[in-house]
Amino acid sequence: MSHPTSVMVHTPAHSGLSGALTYESDIVLDPGTLVRVPLGSRELLGVVWGDAPPVDPAAQAPLQLRAIASVLEGLAPLSAHWRQLVQFAARYYQRSAGEVALASLPSQLRDLSAEQWARRLMRKPKPPLANDAPLQAIPKPTDEQAHVLAEIGAQKGPFLLFGNTGSGKTEVYLRAAQALLERDPHAQILVMVPEINLTPQLEERFRARFAPQWGPECLVAMHSSLTPAQRLKNWLAAHSGEARIVLGTRMAVFASMPHLQLIVVDEEHDPSYKQQEGARYSARDLAIYRGQLEGAKVILGSATPSLESWHHSRPATTSEPAGRYMRLAMPSRVGQGALPLVRRVDMNRQPYKTVFSNHLLDAMRERLTRGEQILVLLNRRGYAPVLHCNDCGWKSECPHCSAFRVFHKLDRTLRCHHCGFTQPVPRACPTCGNLDISPLGRGTEQLEEHLADLLADVCRPDGEPIRIARIDADSTRLKGELERQLAEVHAGAVDVLVGTQMIAKGHDFRRVTLVAALNTDGALFSSDFRAPERLFSLLMQAAGRAGRDANMQLVSPCEMWVQSHHPLHPLFEALKQHDYPAFAEQQLKEREQATLPPFSFQALVRAEARNQEAAQDFLNAARDAGAALADELLVDLYPAVPMTIQRVANIERAQMLIECTSRKALQHFLAHWQADLHAMRSAHRQVIRWAVDVDPLAI
Ligand code: ADP
Ligand code: ZN
Ligand code: ZN
Repeated sequence: MSHPTSVMVHTPAHSGLSGALTYESDIVLDPGTLVRVPLGSRELLGVVWGDAPPVDPAAQAPLQLRAIASVLEGLAPLSAHWRQLVQFAARYYQRSAGEVALASLPSQLRDLSAEQWARRLMRKPKPPLANDAPLQAIPKPTDEQAHVLAEIGAQKGPFLLFGNTGSGKTEVYLRAAQALLERDPHAQILVMVPEINLTPQLEERFRARFAPQWGPECLVAMHSSLTPAQRLKNWLAAHSGEARIVLGTRMAVFASMPHLQLIVVDEEHDPSYKQQEGARYSARDLAIYRGQLEGAKVILGSATPSLESWHHSRPATTSEPAGRYMRLAMPSRVGQGALPLVRRVDMNRQPYKTVFSNHLLDAMRERLTRGEQILVLLNRRGYAPVLHCNDCGWKSECPHCSAFRVFHKLDRTLRCHHCGFTQPVPRACPTCGNLDISPLGRGTEQLEEHLADLLADVCRPDGEPIRIARIDADSTRLKGELERQLAEVHAGAVDVLVGTQMIAKGHDFRRVTLVAALNTDGALFSSDFRAPERLFSLLMQAAGRAGRDANMQLVSPCEMWVQSHHPLHPLFEALKQHDYPAFAEQQLKEREQATLPPFSFQALVRAEARNQEAAQDFLNAARDAGAALADELLVDLYPAVPMTIQRVANIERAQMLIECTSRKALQHFLAHWQADLHAMRSAHRQVIRWAVDVDPLAI
């Protein structure tokens, strides 16, 4: 007896379809079973999705079904909840379920042969080294923490934990996890962080708290820098229920966890939660969906929540009901490490080309001689964003992109940050031969050099010259380099740390008393409506790096300096008061007036082709094809436009915005329109790729 069985696979040839193919099996396989199936001459990993749909009687000769090649023995089927999560994500983000399912499984499940798999199953996992770290005293919750924990215990959620940097949010996650682990011998907890480099310190904190009681195997990590073998091992531990806590980046939202009861999304506002290729999912939004699906509580935590989450957690007013999330506030910092005093420097009153105002420099000098640490934030890496010729006006454009190549002085290269094209710096102007070519603008590399000059005469209290270090994507390219550099900062070997937004996030630098932010004005007037939101959260995060050690004896209070040509901008006013709610209210008002998210819902279609016209033609044809339905559903389709950086690596890029005040109507439109887009491919052969981005973060 043979059973037609529907199996999800991921193959580019089927990427436009659901991803389900029908195979024959001589036994009935449970949905969620992992199998290997033949396709052409290859064998693919697949997930049994259920019985195959009945054969269409009108179809011509029934197809000869091929048989499932093998079943991955020894693995419990993936749960119905997991399959539902995958199905939802695929539908919502306009991809095939096969792609989403297979992309979220560890690659070794696919790559190991049947024999290798059998051997892998035999292997008893080596128990991790016992944790011999001394038992740490568990702090008694503060009143704010106790209140928040009581609410989390009693209410359904989802919760938005709006807690200042240093207010003890992580301690709340630890306590909430602890309560669950103690109550239910199977309960599993998923904790997500936005970036890999934030995982080690969080992992350490969770391990220190839970390993003594639940053993070192109770916690596993899930992120892209694990080796394939580690990833499989950790995935299996979560899938079997042995790992009680999974800690990871956005990919972890798809972890198979049969007893999931709590999901924590730390720094929920961070754009890194949005996947930027393939299925462009938001792990934060999927966490909310998954929590609801599985009956797990969800805690989103942030000092500067996304405006979406802030809006969803609005309290009830006389005219409107409350949002869907429950907002829990923790305004105080634990141990009274006060938030820094914000000082604004009006750059209009500084001499032309001033990099550091004298006031700021004096303040830095004073603190350095006292042995305090300083952070200088500049969101632009490299030495200078452009190299140019004073004679003929030549600029270091990238020949493959509509962007300038950045001058990196250290290795004397011109490097394109979009396509990676790198060349040595020319000795003379490539156009006119002039020897006098010079940098325009300033990046972190140059800032580091400039600061070394400005502070050359400053010594630490021990008489040693001060040390300046730089942390950005260039200085940390080598594996382990970021950890090494951060350790130096933590150990106090570095006095001034220059860097991009990488230094603003999450790190617990103990002796920082002054943070300076340079060149932030661009975001105030950006065409991207989310730029102010990102700037505000970056500056609040950076401010949170100062004054973390309440025991430090301070001669003068911690400070955050902002140099700007628009010092009275409302964003800086709100920053000065550390008043996120005021900032959010002002931004939400603007968004509501302009009907921007969260008051409307958006999607983008992006197309890439060898020439701009072909890319736009495709999009405009798609617009025509969808026009009638869009009209009916009150969905707005905008004309195709070139992307901000229109050409990357010789590929022209265009995009088209789709907007609607109803999420449901937008979803309905996209679901129907997708078939049109696929059908149009053959008439637009010049289009290399196209993709839909639902709830895009950058427009
Ligand atoms: P956040 O995650 O909000 O930045 P943390 O949880 O990291 O805050 O807490 C900041 C600091 O305060 C940490 O050093 C932490 O150990 C300490 N801390 C948190 N809660 C308490 C508490 N209830 N009692 C004493 N110290 C605490
Ligand atoms: Zn020239
Ligand atoms: Zn380039």
